Amino acid sequence: MPILSDRMSQLGTEAAFQVLARANALQRQGHDIVNLCIGQPDFQTPAHIVEAGRKALADGHHGYTLANGILPLREAVSADLYRRHGVEISPERVLIVPGGKVTMFFAMMMFGQPGVEIIHPNPGFPIYESAIRFSGATPVSMPLHESKGFSFSADEVLALITPRTRLLILNSPANPTGGVVPKSELDRLVAGLARHPHVAVMSDEIYGEMLYEGTHTSLTTYPELADRLILLDGWSKTYAMTGWRLGYSVWPAEWAAQAERLAINSHSCVNASAQYAGIAALTGPREPVERMVAAFAERRRYIIPALNQLPGVTCVMPGGAFYAFPNVTGTGIDSRTLQSRLLEEGGVASLSGTSFGSFGEGYLRLSYAASMPVLAEAVGRIGAFLAKG
Ligand code: PLP
Repeated sequence: MPILSDRMSQLGTEAAFQVLARANALQRQGHDIVNLCIGQPDFQTPAHIVEAGRKALADGHHGYTLANGILPLREAVSADLYRRHGVEISPERVLIVPGGKVTMFFAMMMFGQPGVEIIHPNPGFPIYESAIRFSGATPVSMPLHESKGFSFSADEVLALITPRTRLLILNSPANPTGGVVPKSELDRLVAGLARHPHVAVMSDEIYGEMLYEGTHTSLTTYPELADRLILLDGWSKTYAMTGWRLGYSVWPAEWAAQAERLAINSHSCVNASAQYAGIAALTGPREPVERMVAAFAERRRYIIPALNQLPGVTCVMPGGAFYAFPNVTGTGIDSRTLQSRLLEEGGVASLSGTSFGSFGEGYLRLSYAASMPVLAEAVGRIGAFLAKG
């Protein structure tokens, strides 16, 4: 019997895909399921972006591109970062990758090995911990606090750093909590990191344009981090392009060539037509993005108060992304059981907070990237399920 490498046993997964499969199976059996488990906009990719992808195929862009991505796209990324954050980033430091996840995997491959510690948000995107373990490194949980709107305390994060820490992962606005780290806390963290020059930072800002109050502070705006910051971003959420598989990272100049080498060893380059579509997204009208974010803002205004009306449920107002992360401890049902019973008995697909790390116990994640009638139906069903006791 062939034997897999030990590291395969360390690889986790993303529960959203498993719950989605179960929800689809129940639907095929004739059950009526309201699906709030998957984290993707319920909008179509804007038409001008689709057209640019179609045109690229018609124009014959069928071959490999440069491994780090076509230059006009990397230039468009630089211009977009300047537009959004006022930072000047050379296109040479930009790597186009197939989706946001690839950057985190590359960062973990670059820094993770046995004996090394990597700090990640908990509750946080599950692939962080999975990829850290896969690399052989030890994951160290950075707790996010409901009492702080699911932000962190800079002092608490700095206290987790040891001589073995190689990488610190940040994610704001966050999945699964919708939490946003205030600029004042980022300032304190960055100031403290001056005492730890051995620590690199990966900032996952994939929800950076989905903020409902205030403005997004990008870690790229701190020049003191420029030689050790990896920025993770992409098109999936902002432009409703999850299926196109298009993302990018910005690397310090010294690591950009290493990151490109990882790309050459894994996927060679990103689908050429998707890259042309990516240019249209960044350089085209902002109106479709603004319309989508306005719709999410309206849904957020509806669903958070509605969840707070349910017995045993309290929910803080998320500052960004499109997730509600209600505290369900008052229901007396643990998160995993509640996820499963809501799906099987209540007809609502949600995710247990524990799918995002141990500190997610007592919470559920609901994606509100769904229409208002769907959200109202979900809240009604959850209420009816909880009322049954
Ligand atoms: N980072 C966070 C915080 C996410 O929530 C997601 C997707 O849900 C990703 C990265 C990955 O995005 P992509 O689908 O582009 O790989």
